[in-house]
Amino acid sequence: MTKLLFFVLLGVAVVAWFKSQGRPRRDLGKAKPSKVEDMVRCQVCGINLPRSEALLGHGRIYCCDEHRRQDQG
Ligand SMILES: [Zn+2]
Repeated sequence: MTKLLFFVLLGVAVVAWFKSQGRPRRDLGKAKPSKVEDMVRCQVCGINLPRSEALLGHGRIYCCDEHRRQDQG
């Protein structure tokens, strides 16, 4: 039981070390999208983009700051 705990802690330490190295390790399979993000539409150019990347202004949605200013004058 103690050995198992040791190996678990060792695994956690190795993962933490790899993260701190900042190396791209796609083989870990972390890059796969766990959930589909809501897509929203820019009010100016009509492009679709993830909600997290969208800009909000006066209850309207924009893809970039330039379009937000363009629409709101
Ligand atoms: Zn736009």
